Amino acid sequence: MKAIRVREFGESNVMKIEEAPDLVAGANQVVVQIKAAGVNPVDTYIRSGAYPSKPGLPYTPGMDAAGIVASLGGGVSRFKVGDRVYVAGSLSGTYAEQALCDQSQVHPLADGVTFEQGAGVYVPYATAYRALWMLARMRPGETLLIHGASGGVGVAAIQIAKAAGVRVIGSAGTEQGKQLVAEQGADHVVDHNQTGYLDEVLSLTNGAGPNIILEMLSNVNLQKDLEVLAMRGRIVIIGCRGEIKINPRLIMGKEAQINGMVLMLSSDNELSVIHSALVAGLENGTLRPVVGKTFALADAAQAHEAVMAPGAYGKIALLT
Ligand code: NAP
Repeated sequence: MKAIRVREFGESNVMKIEEAPDLVAGANQVVVQIKAAGVNPVDTYIRSGAYPSKPGLPYTPGMDAAGIVASLGGGVSRFKVGDRVYVAGSLSGTYAEQALCDQSQVHPLADGVTFEQGAGVYVPYATAYRALWMLARMRPGETLLIHGASGGVGVAAIQIAKAAGVRVIGSAGTEQGKQLVAEQGADHVVDHNQTGYLDEVLSLTNGAGPNIILEMLSNVNLQKDLEVLAMRGRIVIIGCRGEIKINPRLIMGKEAQINGMVLMLSSDNELSVIHSALVAGLENGTLRPVVGKTFALADAAQAHEAVMAPGAYGKIALLT
């Protein structure tokens, strides 16, 4: 099979397509024939060598994928060969024609969901679900600001929150991104590149501010978030690419909560809850990943450049 291999950390061109041995499922394992692999910003941090936890070299990048069950090891009863599935992490990496997974990393993919869309489920939707339900403890009727709603996590958060009866204000930085956020069901769209856009958020909430803010770029926005957040509001820090100075008096004065979140720190129990909800949402149609761009597997380097460029539009997928 073909697989992307990284033999040294560095720029995107360290990812090379290579011929690799076919994978064999051991006990409780599943080999998935990958049709599409999802590209996440974290894949680029890991590849650059800047991420705190580094894989051993060489490695195959990627956590997200969708495809068909190709073979099963002993003890696997949840699947049969030929089942359509999405992959939520793997033992071998997903930028490849096959992935070796523990059976707990494989989940059924509803018939109405394409493989490209299935490749955009795990990291974005599990992140948005955990942030909204488990950390922010969202309640129907509340107002949510998704600060960065046009990318993978943002689109997932719009769909999850709208299905729960939460009022959504979503931000994007381009006309195309704003249109996507509106189409996905946000009640209001603001432009995070326009001066005064947070005054708009305040006026949309009659001066009270949003109850919850999901923050995709906290090193730029955290102080501004604290300024507009409602009393007893909750902020979940999902994205962070540097440092920022904040005034803790705002946290105190609003009795606000700032929650950090790292998907990879989810417990097995949390992941089980999350995937039960995501599988149901994919089946009932409330959850539908949006894939804005696709690349051939061999062009993984271009996909890494694209995922870090401004002007997000849903997900980026690699096609095998
Ligand atoms: P993505 O698809 O690349 O989307 C990035 C989002 O950030 C876009 O909506 C983009 O909007 C927005 N953005 C850009 N500048 C912004 C600004 N000044 N203020 C607010 N938003 C801004 O990435 P993603 O997959 O959605 O992930 C978002 C972030 O969360 C990334 O940093 C990622 O590494 C992180 N993340 C963390 C976890 C975790 O476990 N903590 C899990 C998943 C993702 P425009 O492009 O329209 O300007």
